[in-house]
Amino acid sequence: MTASSMDDLVSLAKRRGFIFQSSDIYGGLQGVYDYGPLGVELKNNLKAAWWRAMVYDRDDIEGLDAAILTNPMTLRHSGHEATFTDPLVDCRACKSRWRADHLEGNTCPGCGSNDLTEPRPFNLMFKTQVGPVQDGGSFAYLRPETAQAIFTNFKNVVDSTSPKLPFGIAQIGKAFRNEITPRNFIFRVREFEQMELEFFVKAGEDEAWHRTWVDLRLDWWEQQGVPKDQLELYHVPADELAHYSKATVDVMYRFPHGLEELEGIANRTDFDLGSHTKNQDDFELQAKVEPNSDSNAKLAMQDLEAKAWHVPFVIEPSAGVDRGVLAVMNEAYRVEELENGNTRTVMSFKPHLAPIKVAILPLKRNHEGIVTKAKEIKKNLMRLGVGRIFYEDTGNIGKGYRRHDEVGTPLCVTVDFQTIEEDDTVTVRHRDSMAQQRVAVSELPAFVEEFMRS
Ligand code: ATP
Repeated sequence: MTASSMDDLVSLAKRRGFIFQSSDIYGGLQGVYDYGPLGVELKNNLKAAWWRAMVYDRDDIEGLDAAILTNPMTLRHSGHEATFTDPLVDCRACKSRWRADHLEGNTCPGCGSNDLTEPRPFNLMFKTQVGPVQDGGSFAYLRPETAQAIFTNFKNVVDSTSPKLPFGIAQIGKAFRNEITPRNFIFRVREFEQMELEFFVKAGEDEAWHRTWVDLRLDWWEQQGVPKDQLELYHVPADELAHYSKATVDVMYRFPHGLEELEGIANRTDFDLGSHTKNQDDFELQAKVEPNSDSNAKLAMQDLEAKAWHVPFVIEPSAGVDRGVLAVMNEAYRVEELENGNTRTVMSFKPHLAPIKVAILPLKRNHEGIVTKAKEIKKNLMRLGVGRIFYEDTGNIGKGYRRHDEVGTPLCVTVDFQTIEEDDTVTVRHRDSMAQQRVAVSELPAFVEEFMRS
């Protein structure tokens, strides 16, 4: 077995249709990637696993799917207009631009010169014109995090679902950041997806809930095939905290290019709801917020016993979908030496994440009996609703197995002469062990269903 390098992953991702450079035929667009036929399945499966864990498995979290285009007021009062910046330096020698806190020493990574400007704040938000009149006033931001729309919809969700604290609102969606130096494949990009939960709690219970969510998130990553011994917790020091945070724990993963953030879990206190609330003086906010005369909402909850209104605290586990896909691919990738001296590349995804669940391979592509049977099996397995069942009639079973090893299909089902002439059984071949077994066609759906649950 060998560990993967970023080059191995990039090459497999392109060769097998997981991830492509965006606008490739025009030379690409830096920091922007497209997900291909298998990538979209993997990514959707990862998002579905998160949604299941957050929304379906619990009864205290509701979902939301808010817009990407965001009223500038939202991002003014959230603090992003003023502070969502990275330190930018210019190299005077080669005219390149870099993020100052990513430099080693005071040296330009492009040309090696030390002739760099002083760092200055560079705002990462993308702006876009809204409507036909280009008067400079009618613009919106592309959201830099999905979280803000959860806060601005807080009252809508509370009024429509009547939750009691603690409760959460979960959202998966695109976010955009004009990163100074996008790099490391899909690790740092300008257009990405986040899976964010805002979990609202009573002040005073925030620190215990923060610890709980760190533990829950580590367990979840392990269920996706990212083991805890590849993760490290980084307790962000006070001078590095984002403007809204009282405490942040970053879940760091050993990516091929080094130990970096996979997910951030922040205690955002009552900062966001407080910042977006009118008449803030009515509340005893613990966070320091700017006055807000633009909002028309009171983002607070009523304590029925005390008959008082208060602004909840919020714990936010915020995970990157693309960084998750990269971590899952990195953990799944292995190259194995076979007994015959050859090697095989295997993506050993957990079954629920695999882009293709079962490949159906007819032994002969032109044999009517075998083909009909194979198509019938596909139809029956599709009824399970476990994901993609792929019919593939190249007629070369050995090559089919290799190809499906490389894209991570956990089960291959071969339909042969024994199936149609003797006993109505098929060969089920397992990706990881390469073991083969005969299973009766009538028992195949139950077999696959059971396997997918494992
Ligand atoms: P970093 O320090 O790596 O720039 P961050 O601390 O700014 O990340 P957060 O604001 O905490 O990131 O965002 C939450 C999550 O969103 C991150 O843990 C990461 O998984 C994802 N994310 C943030 N920026 C990017 C990006 N440019 N490309 C891909 N994913 C990102």
